[in-house]
Amino acid sequence: MAASRPRRSVALHTKILLALLFGAIAGVASNIYAGDSPQLAWITDNVAQPVGQIFLRLLFMVVVPLVFASVTMGVASLGDLRRIGRVGTKTLLIFLATTAVAVVVGLALVNVIRPGESLDPAIRTALMAEYSSEAGQKVVLSEENRFGINTLVNIVPRNPVAAAANGDMLGLIFFSLMFGIALTLIAKESAAPVMRLLEGVNQAVMVIIGFAMRLAPLGVAGLIFSVTSKFGFDILKSLGLYVVTVLLALAVHQFGVIAMIARFVAGIGPRTFFSRSRALMITAFSTSSSNATLPTTIRTAEENFGVPRQIAGFVLPLGATMNMNGTAMFEGVTVLFLAQVFGVQLDLLTQLIVVIMCVITAIGVAGVPSGSIPLLVMVLGMVGVPGEGIALILGVDRILDMARTVPNVTADLLTSLLVAKSERLPLVVPARQESAA
Ligand code: ASP
Repeated sequence: MAASRPRRSVALHTKILLALLFGAIAGVASNIYAGDSPQLAWITDNVAQPVGQIFLRLLFMVVVPLVFASVTMGVASLGDLRRIGRVGTKTLLIFLATTAVAVVVGLALVNVIRPGESLDPAIRTALMAEYSSEAGQKVVLSEENRFGINTLVNIVPRNPVAAAANGDMLGLIFFSLMFGIALTLIAKESAAPVMRLLEGVNQAVMVIIGFAMRLAPLGVAGLIFSVTSKFGFDILKSLGLYVVTVLLALAVHQFGVIAMIARFVAGIGPRTFFSRSRALMITAFSTSSSNATLPTTIRTAEENFGVPRQIAGFVLPLGATMNMNGTAMFEGVTVLFLAQVFGVQLDLLTQLIVVIMCVITAIGVAGVPSGSIPLLVMVLGMVGVPGEGIALILGVDRILDMARTVPNVTADLLTSLLVAKSERLPLVVPARQESAA
């Protein structure tokens, strides 16, 4: 499908990138020159927001059928249980390893830069006062999220339809895994029509994603404009060093660690890897959501990197829910930053606990905007930093959320490439980037 329209697709990429730049520049400019004007608020609420939301909703709309069809088909076409177990184990190990490396990179940088020590106490007091009620709500949320045996029990949904309707991705994935495994265990003639039906669902969903991506330039511009036109840029000045530390750590992971693994383990050079992932990265950046980006991630893996359907369909939905390199790194940096601000000493052993906690909690983070905040509060509490301290960073969270979602999804894509390679499945990479996603 994509191969027949290379021209339009390449142009679409450029359009999305230009739209991102245009939306960001227009948003920042209107924030500076027309900050509080009612006209700007009207444009944001009645033009930029709706366009952005429609794009976002089109992507969210296909997530449930896509996850069900792709996980079930992925698992069923892996064939036997032993192979499913092997692929599953490899996938989880790569998730854990890359996430742990991300946190270590983040902690190394925050220990060197020490952004918390230079934060003006007056700014600290002002930020605490301004965001304390919002922070209080997140603290309550974190209590509801407490880890325990129930976390495990809750993975098994009581009702798969309710899980899907409530956005309980792990529950939906669990049901799809079971369903896929069951299909491999029943008679071939009974399984075949179900598989054909799912194949049809999958193809139709891909077409809808294609429609959504045509709207991507407008949607991306709308989403970025609504964030930047309302954003309080002054706060960036006060938290500058912290923001720079997070962004630097994310960039080192994205363009250093992930690029090197892609080059030396998957055998794909950084230019090819990133230019073929452009739509994926831009979608993640503008939506701040791994779940909303999942359709684009699957499309990118299959069409731009030739990842076989059974691997992409299995690894990527799991990755969108469980594998969050950027989020874990952000959690680690923020815990140390707040510890520095509040003068809490975290020795090496405690920092190791921070690494482990960040890796584990990132698995439980929902792939939605600011999904990590309640779990971040939990990690803070565990190492003795006041959870309300997140009041300090809430004002810049949106920007950091956009940035951390990029390595979150890029690492999912990378994992699918590594797993496919380790299974000796050929990656049929097109000679040039062909599709929109
Ligand atoms: N927005 C992130 C994601 O969807 C989650 C988070 O870090 O809050 O991947």
